[in-house]
Amino acid sequence: MKALVYQGPGKKALEDRPIPEVKAPTDAVVKIVKTTICGTDLHILKGDVPTCSPGRILGHEGVGMVEKTGPGVTAFRPGDRVLISCISACGKCEYCRRGMYSHCTTGGWILGNEIDGTQAEYVRIPHADTSLYPIPAGADEEALVMLSDILPTGFECGVLNGRVEPGSTVAIVGGGPIGLAALLTAQFYSPAEIIMIDLDDNRLQMAKRFGATATVNAAGGEAAETVMKMTGGRGVDTAIEAVGVPASFVTCEDIVAPGGTIANVGVHGAKVDLHLERLWSRNITITTRLVDTVTTPMLLKTVQSRKIDPKQLITHRFKLDQILDAYDTFGRAASTHALKVIVEA
Ligand SMILES: [Zn+2]
Ligand SMILES: [Zn+2]
Repeated sequence: MKALVYQGPGKKALEDRPIPEVKAPTDAVVKIVKTTICGTDLHILKGDVPTCSPGRILGHEGVGMVEKTGPGVTAFRPGDRVLISCISACGKCEYCRRGMYSHCTTGGWILGNEIDGTQAEYVRIPHADTSLYPIPAGADEEALVMLSDILPTGFECGVLNGRVEPGSTVAIVGGGPIGLAALLTAQFYSPAEIIMIDLDDNRLQMAKRFGATATVNAAGGEAAETVMKMTGGRGVDTAIEAVGVPASFVTCEDIVAPGGTIANVGVHGAKVDLHLERLWSRNITITTRLVDTVTTPMLLKTVQSRKIDPKQLITHRFKLDQILDAYDTFGRAASTHALKVIVEA
């Protein structure tokens, strides 16, 4: 089968690989129908993710059809259409029992990281019963690809951890796919204001279409001052960090109002400055989280009932044998205006 393989920092190739087999009784082998590329895949390619070794098939998002199941799989049968979660969960360990699937002792984020992933014609899914979700009949499978990772990530790490409430003021720093997913799902709670901050005017325009009440271009280095002016000097109740660089975290520290929350979503590769000398007395909460995908079934219902339309995030479509072009388009988002690219297997 064809598969996109990480070959070490800066190197990737479309290779021929054997079709994966069921290894454990609880495994399923899924034939990929549609997958996508994530910002995290670019982090791996930069060499930022040491758990991912050369030779690994990348990808942790997608929808497909069950091809084979181990004898321990009871919830799925060959032929079932499934949504693949970016987080694999045994459902039984201490962390899984607490709903913290991201820290499952035999799972978590392993797909396209510690085990071969979804940017291929087939993928082996461990703990299939608790790591796959059935796709309802008639569902738009392209839209559901957005539910493997980015929608639950924006919602759980940004909106839920950020305690977005009716009438509250929210700022999202970073208008990439994750920031936009947070923007879409924040609106479940009817905040009064959602301010999107980014460096790219195209992304800010998208954010307006997705429901941002105001946008701030951070290019001039005065994003924090602008947000403070917009909020009458008060700041925002929720500051969602959706970039993962020191400057964007500092922006969140600069704009959070007393009693507010900084919800970190970004993948940080370097330390950031924690300004406790300013924050210590301001009743601030800072949260971190790796997505648990516990809200996936709920999000699936909101997509089915058209409360949100994650398909808006899809900007480009490719076939699996064009996946190198897909990476190129996704990697040059500033000039290609790419958000999520769909790769059809
Ligand atoms: Zn991802
Ligand atoms: Zn577990």
